[in-house]
Amino acid sequence: MVKCSFCERKAVYVNHLNGKAYCKLHFISYFERKVRRTIRKHGMLGEKEHIVVGVSGGKDSMSLLHLLHKLSKKNKNWRLTAVLVDEGIRGYRENTIPALKTYAERNMVEYRIVSFKEYLGFTLDEIVSIGRERGLPYLPCSYCGVFRRYVLNRAARDVGGTVLATAHNLDDIVQTYLMNIINNSWDKIARLKPVAERGGHEGFVPRIKPFYEVLEKESAIYALVNGLVRPDYQQCPYAEYNIRFTIRKILNDLEEKYPGTKYGLLRSLEKVSGLIENAQKNVLKSFETCKICGDPSSHPICKACMYRFELGILSS
Ligand code: SF4
Ligand code: ZN
Repeated sequence: MVKCSFCERKAVYVNHLNGKAYCKLHFISYFERKVRRTIRKHGMLGEKEHIVVGVSGGKDSMSLLHLLHKLSKKNKNWRLTAVLVDEGIRGYRENTIPALKTYAERNMVEYRIVSFKEYLGFTLDEIVSIGRERGLPYLPCSYCGVFRRYVLNRAARDVGGTVLATAHNLDDIVQTYLMNIINNSWDKIARLKPVAERGGHEGFVPRIKPFYEVLEKESAIYALVNGLVRPDYQQCPYAEYNIRFTIRKILNDLEEKYPGTKYGLLRSLEKVSGLIENAQKNVLKSFETCKICGDPSSHPICKACMYRFELGILSS
């Protein structure tokens, strides 16, 4: 039996990076401290908020709901609403909805269940089959991700949320980072940040990822020790089509052999997304229109026209 590094109890988690073992109680305080630090570091929550938590009923989102519920009990100016988007995946989603319902009713947490059917007129199963009939090349998860973001944002707006918290953890984020490298989607990498601001559009509910620095394993343990999900949690039937799940396996193998791989990738992502953002700023600046020739330029008058002017050949 591995013993907790801080007391005599049995450990439920060993952090291979700092070499410390944690019993249930010490793990809970380690986990919550870590998330509170992320929230503070990135200025995720203000004094007065109506926090909408995007919940699927799975372990990550139930952990996030539980933690934010605990924090909001201490802060009277924070209101919390859980929103679950039912995509309409037969044989799957109906099994995760009870986790939210049971929790919310037991703890008096406001919640809403919205669906693809209600907002889009079709379930994901229907959308996938229409796509197949039409021979479209998209995978179920592509529709699912895009529409879920769309519906979640609308629902968060509809309930009057000031901020939308999602349970993306460190593993999700570095998996997406690698997927975007493979797809050559550098603009999407710049958007993989812990906070997404309104960006000048009133219709966009600002998003935060409080689990940005949390390993999937840690959030799963937090869910289990708090009794938030059933241990026999099953996987979405469409998951096998998604490259994410292969990448997830590879990253887990790497992390096991070389602890710290995932954090290393997160730090790499932060550096790369900063560089991309700076490059994009220059690109935007460079796409002013030259007042003389009308070509794209980083200044009101392009370098070529400046030279031509200086050379006295502007009119030729
Ligand atoms: Fe949606 Fe794909 Fe996740 Fe299933 S695995 S819930 S289809 S994103
Ligand atoms: Zn010019």
